Amino acid sequence: MIIVMQHTASAADLAAVVDKIRQAGLSEHVSRGAERTIVGAIGDERALSPAQFELMPGVERAMHVVKPYRIVSRESREGNTVVKVRGIPIGGEAIQVIAGPCSVETPEQMDAAAEAVRAAGCRLMRGGAFKPRTSPYAFQGLGISGLAYLQNAARPRQLPIVTELMDVRMLEVFLEYDVDVIQIGARNMQNFDLLKEVGKVNKPVILKRGLSATLSEWLMAAEYIAAGGNHNIIFCERGIRTFETAYRNVLDITAIPALKRETHLPVIVDPSHAGGKAWMVPSLALAAVAAGADGLLVEMHPKPCEAWCDADQALTPQELTTLMSSLRGVAAAVGRTL
Ligand code: PEP
Ligand code: MN
Repeated sequence: MIIVMQHTASAADLAAVVDKIRQAGLSEHVSRGAERTIVGAIGDERALSPAQFELMPGVERAMHVVKPYRIVSRESREGNTVVKVRGIPIGGEAIQVIAGPCSVETPEQMDAAAEAVRAAGCRLMRGGAFKPRTSPYAFQGLGISGLAYLQNAARPRQLPIVTELMDVRMLEVFLEYDVDVIQIGARNMQNFDLLKEVGKVNKPVILKRGLSATLSEWLMAAEYIAAGGNHNIIFCERGIRTFETAYRNVLDITAIPALKRETHLPVIVDPSHAGGKAWMVPSLALAAVAAGADGLLVEMHPKPCEAWCDADQALTPQELTTLMSSLRGVAAAVGRTL
């Protein structure tokens, strides 16, 4: 931490600052300039907060010099982390596409969806059994039986499953049903107790960006998971809320390179919840891969017009297949494979 003294600071003010640094178990480096004295606190500065110093007489301002997120930061690891899901690498050279319906509905729907996901060449399958709905009267997901339908459709096709965990009390059930990737939804990005619990398990986690979360808040949320010991975290940009009302959310393409500069962990993009309309999904998906995304999370339904949830943003099986082939060209242009 760096503490900048006021130009009127007395020797006693400076001594008090030095004392406080030493009390926290750190040492000081005092630099006396022509107009200002600057004190550097040397050691683990996370034990200190700027406010503790800014309230002291003679202190102008205090600031951290290291990032508050440690494990997820590039400072802790130079290369890219590849998260493996049943042997499928996420964050490596290959772009991974996770596809499937918004919600699990029936065994027949899931069987048709899994077949379409496989046929399109996607290697992982999504499907929500527990749905975070804006209205309490809307379909809330099938619950535990949804996990079974998802697993029964995906396993025979060697598709690892991705599904959202909303309530920490369901974590044991997720492990019992051998969910391959736990999704933490946008609305739960800062549910810290939930983050701490998924931090203790040995399962990859997709952490979606909160509706109005800054990159720093998102990185700190991931740090909660990492701090528990689970470093298999995948960030998912899914659009943020802005003043624009013409589409569901604004896909923050800028976040992709910005986040990848800050973290060594994989970053994927959900173009479906970003645009909210099926016709927008291909453009957003291509833009995401061009901008450096490591993968996509895409909603697809065997019959979108019959979907129980998010019908207007679901691709048809044919549209998913077409998207996969157009993604190949963009992936190749940025030195990736699909
Ligand atoms: C979802 O992926 O089904 C979902 C609800 O997404 P989000 O949390 O991004 O809204
Ligand atoms: Mn959805």
